[in-house]
Amino acid sequence: MNVVILLGAPGSGKGTLAAELARVPGIRHLSTGDLLRAAVKAGTPAGLKAKAYMEAGNLVPDAVIAELLAENLDADPDTHVLLLDGFPRNVAQADILADLLARKGVRLRGALLLEVPDDVLVARIAGRRVCPACSATFNVATLPPKVEGVCDACGAALVTRKDDDPATVRHRLQVYAEQTFPLIDYYRQRGLLHAVDASGHDLEPKIEAALRKIHD
Ligand code: AMP
Repeated sequence: MNVVILLGAPGSGKGTLAAELARVPGIRHLSTGDLLRAAVKAGTPAGLKAKAYMEAGNLVPDAVIAELLAENLDADPDTHVLLLDGFPRNVAQADILADLLARKGVRLRGALLLEVPDDVLVARIAGRRVCPACSATFNVATLPPKVEGVCDACGAALVTRKDDDPATVRHRLQVYAEQTFPLIDYYRQRGLLHAVDASGHDLEPKIEAALRKIHD
């Protein structure tokens, strides 16, 4: 199994991209945000601990994330590439990941950074609509569902994420700048960083080229 980290600010398109790529057999998308939202919805102990942090746009404590990840990061023989979306979010989590992978004998192949200017991020998040049933993501401006307000994949009514309101988004961008941004240097220093300009729409060919580079 090859592990690839998707790095990027909220709204940089990590989730949409990972979901696209995960249509290819052998590629699996693991999003800590999706796992947490499912845990909150199900009212599990992790979900109960995470809820208030998420609604305020703050990072959930590392211990909660580490446990969630350990439960979901089994080396599955059918997974050729595991795309980590939303994890790690700070240097402590990057160290937790390195330990976890070392214990499982799995190699981290690279960190793919999606670079998007702040004004584009804010506009993208404002248009984001998500499916509460299957986690599919749409955008009223750039990726509208076939029927307004309805999930293409499962037919559920789309919603706006609670943490996508403008004040919380500003706070999440600040949390990203303070806590997640240092990971760019962390992975660059380890020769693992691959940056891609993700401000446009036709991202897939660029990403596929970057993934091929990571793989070689
Ligand atoms: P996301 O869907 O990746 O934007 O994550 C939504 C929210 O879940 C974040 O704003 C955090 O509150 C929480 N979250 C997701 N992943 C992590 C993580 N690796 N560490 C801490 N909090 C996280």
